[in-house]
Amino acid sequence: MAKLIIAIDGPSGAGKSTLSKALSTQLGYANIDTGAMYRAVALLATRNQISLDDALALSQLCRNMQLEFQRNGDNEKVLVNGEDISAAIRMPEVSMLTSQVAACPAVREELLRMQQQLGRVGGVVLEGRDIGTVVFPQAEIKFFLSASAEERGRRRYEELRAKGMNVDLAQTIEEVRARDAADSSREHAPLCRAEDAIDIDSTVLNIDQVLAFMLGVVNERLAEK
Ligand code: C5P
Repeated sequence: MAKLIIAIDGPSGAGKSTLSKALSTQLGYANIDTGAMYRAVALLATRNQISLDDALALSQLCRNMQLEFQRNGDNEKVLVNGEDISAAIRMPEVSMLTSQVAACPAVREELLRMQQQLGRVGGVVLEGRDIGTVVFPQAEIKFFLSASAEERGRRRYEELRAKGMNVDLAQTIEEVRARDAADSSREHAPLCRAEDAIDIDSTVLNIDQVLAFMLGVVNERLAEK
């Protein structure tokens, strides 16, 4: 059976993480959350008091970082240098810093190399912003998953509330919009849809409906191979 490279790109809160997890589980593929990689760099830079303008220190940090994705059933962990940072990287303050770190070309260059290394053998679902355009423009399947900013903000709000965090809905929607603007307007590898991507608008579709659609596309592609 062919081992495909599947890219899922789109703005934050569109459901990429949930779907890439579900899709990779169904297919028995590896799942690479590239956003978690950028988040890990932002977290480590803050902890080590590295200025986000210091490209040299940031690229060194990337090179020295031992990143690991661990999966146990539905539970996915991100470890850096052996420490579980899964919860720390999801804090709202890390999210905004991540967009700044992700605009640094030296960081993108380092992480691009790691992502290509992790995915090159195929049998992998990668989720991010530039997978179909920059990381794997040759990916066999590219999905571009989006939803309205209000709906994405509402989902992020529910997620954070469920974790016991005291957040405000209007502010969460505003943060989603600010991150969209930062990710779409940056000079290097901005968030944009690959020309050959398949669009999915998840505003009114639930996870099961999107997953069924994605699996249909994958099975069709596998049958052609
Ligand atoms: O997907 P997630 O919300 O975890 O991504 C966090 C941030 O990492 C994004 O807002 C974006 O700035 C950056 N990112 C990126 N390229 C990717 C994945 C994430 O620039 N491939």
